[in-house]
Amino acid sequence: MRILIVEDDDRVGSALEAFLARSGYATVRAADGASAMALLGADTEVVLLDLGLPDVDGIDLCRRIRSRSEVPIVVVTARSQVTERIKGLRAGADDFVVKPYDVHELLARIEAVTRRSRPMRPETDGLVTIHGGEVEIDLVARQVRVDQHPIDLTPKEFDIIAVLARYPGVAVPKDRLIREVWNTDWRGFSHSLEVHIGAIRKKTGAHRIIDTVRGVGYRLVGS
Ligand code: CA
Repeated sequence: MRILIVEDDDRVGSALEAFLARSGYATVRAADGASAMALLGADTEVVLLDLGLPDVDGIDLCRRIRSRSEVPIVVVTARSQVTERIKGLRAGADDFVVKPYDVHELLARIEAVTRRSRPMRPETDGLVTIHGGEVEIDLVARQVRVDQHPIDLTPKEFDIIAVLARYPGVAVPKDRLIREVWNTDWRGFSHSLEVHIGAIRKKTGAHRIIDTVRGVGYRLVGS
């Protein structure tokens, strides 16, 4: 899971999910506050929070999410009043988008808040280990070590591994990898991505570090 969409309007929610899926994001949707809290997990990357919900006040929900998680929250609302914006930000929201919004603008905001919030996963301290420590991915030194020996990788190869290493064991869509590594939405890089993955596999030899997830993309093997 990547983006938790909290939206009670089914039409708006479905359209948003379709757009984000096309942009390479996995989404999960909650139509009320109770299911939003139930779906909020350690792997939630961003919360898109509509303030007008049937069961709870959106500002209260924002505060509750913030009390449980450091996840970036983008508040989405039809209420354009300045007071709502201030309340939302005080309740822990990272950004604010007023309906009707342009989906590309929303995407830009999502990407901005996720960039701000994830320089490094604190729990890994920049070091991701797999295969019981036989393979180390050092995000600070930009190095992959197999049995303590550094592997000679190109910068792009390391970039691909680094994106996957942020979510060990989680399938990362191809579109997402292409966007993060090549900074483009052009699917023409799909072949290039496959070639790089092949090269990484060759260089890491018998230690399989990347799995293909058919129809989705790739994932770093679990620890
Ligand atoms: Ca609503």
